[in-house]
Amino acid sequence: MKPINEFDVVVIGAGMAGITAAARLQALGRKVCVLEKSYNPGGRMATRDKPEGCWDHGAQYFTARSPEFRAQVQRWVEQGSVAHWKSPIAVWDGEQLSASRSRERFVGMPRMKAPLLDMANHLQIVYNALVTRAFRQGDEWIIEAAGSVWCAHQLIIALPAPQARALLPLGTEAYSVAASVVMEPCLALMVRTEQALGLPFAAAFVNDGLLSWVAHNNRKPGRVSGNHFLLHANPIWSADNIDATPARIETAMLQEFNRLLTHWLPGEKIPRVDAKYFHRWRYARALVQPSINKAAWPELGLALAGDWLGDGRVEAAYCSGLAAANALEKTLLL
Ligand code: FAD
Repeated sequence: MKPINEFDVVVIGAGMAGITAAARLQALGRKVCVLEKSYNPGGRMATRDKPEGCWDHGAQYFTARSPEFRAQVQRWVEQGSVAHWKSPIAVWDGEQLSASRSRERFVGMPRMKAPLLDMANHLQIVYNALVTRAFRQGDEWIIEAAGSVWCAHQLIIALPAPQARALLPLGTEAYSVAASVVMEPCLALMVRTEQALGLPFAAAFVNDGLLSWVAHNNRKPGRVSGNHFLLHANPIWSADNIDATPARIETAMLQEFNRLLTHWLPGEKIPRVDAKYFHRWRYARALVQPSINKAAWPELGLALAGDWLGDGRVEAAYCSGLAAANALEKTLLL
């Protein structure tokens, strides 16, 4: 099979980290190709579209602290693909609700991945391309995906740590970096209730029972009105139940939602749910940071990117993508 060799750089993964890295290198004049196993970009900044409506079921919002990311978020806000989420967010401690610490929260408009779509449209992305093998041969990387072979001088692996480790050659430092990070799962349940619920918040951090987060999706800017609620289970319960049947997971999470509603809406009838979907996030968040503080090997034309190289959030994914691109670009100029 003839390898596809027209690109300088191959990026694996079209989430925030991979798209940021690819866009940066392309802006610097590199020929870049992104390989993505899914049929669309966004990764964990995901929204489930169903006939009954939409739910953001991965990242719920993001914050922006670093000057680079703040500047980027500002551009997205000006373009209209991101908005400030100002609705009240609560914290439930098992006995009472309080207001969560106030911070600037942002969401994609009208879906979480919206800011990535415009960037993705300007990139060469091959979808439905699950990369199964990547190895170095001479001064090139050979990448096997979806019955095709790519070869390029530089490779950026922008995947959750366990998925990056699976592609990296055993015994390399990059393998050790990825192998040192454990990522915890998150079970997500999307529900639509028949009646509107008069909750006194748009979303709540839950520090009691098996849920960790409850959000009224329609109270994010740019969403149509409706009764679409997103529930995330906490990491311990998610890990214990990651391979349980969908029916068991749905029943347990829904019972817990109903229990919480008896506290939050005392005296009101438990609503009927007329649509529900669930999703298993196997690698939601990194539990620990990598043991080695290094993510690029320019001499090998290799860089890693992903939120797990920082604090496990959208901003960290963005910054890791920029860092990966900058590290490889420097060697190119030598
Ligand atoms: P990903 O988004 O995971 O992108 C990796 C991409 O690689 C995916 O598109 C995947 O399909 C693809 N891929 C995987 N394996 C292969 C392969 N072998 N070949 C080709 N493609 C492959 N962050 C916040 O800031 N705020 C939040 O509120 C928040 N809540 C979260 C809630 C949940 C349930 C989850 C799961 C995450 C949450 N996060 C949150 C984290 C946030 O979603 C991530 O930090 C960010 O989206 C990670 O981007 P990434 O590019 O590093 O990885």
